[in-house]
Amino acid sequence: MAYSNELYRQVILEHNKNPRNFRAIESAQRVSEGNNPLCGDRVTLYVNVENDHISDIAFQGSGCAISKASASLMTEALKGKTVEDAKTLFLQFQNMVTDKSAKQTSEDMGKLAVFAGIRDYPTRVKCATLAWHAAHAALLNHQDPITTEGETS
Ligand code: ZN
Repeated sequence: MAYSNELYRQVILEHNKNPRNFRAIESAQRVSEGNNPLCGDRVTLYVNVENDHISDIAFQGSGCAISKASASLMTEALKGKTVEDAKTLFLQFQNMVTDKSAKQTSEDMGKLAVFAGIRDYPTRVKCATLAWHAAHAALLNHQDPITTEGETS
């Protein structure tokens, strides 16, 4: 699958070099932190929700190309989505990068499908899912004050 490997490489490198929504949101409603000590990836995720839709989402952080590109592509994918749809996409993404039996790379994953190949590299799965876990955490505790304590895996 030389084609998909090349596509994968290009999309990751491009988003790593030029990440989308790479900024802090001042006075964001929800902030969540993700940390992947295995690789040294760190991400801080900012989310605003209005009328049950993700009105704004952005991130900052440092780490490997995969973690950064994944956060970049994720913010693009989640912006404008309902909270429910975002949670569904989180599960679909999680499934896509971990389940080797899930051979179908569903077309509705859009550009996120470039991460399907990650399932063959278990050590990189946490890089690809780091931002998603942070987003999921931010969306789950929407009624609670922001806290990061006890927020490990
Ligand atoms: Zn990494």
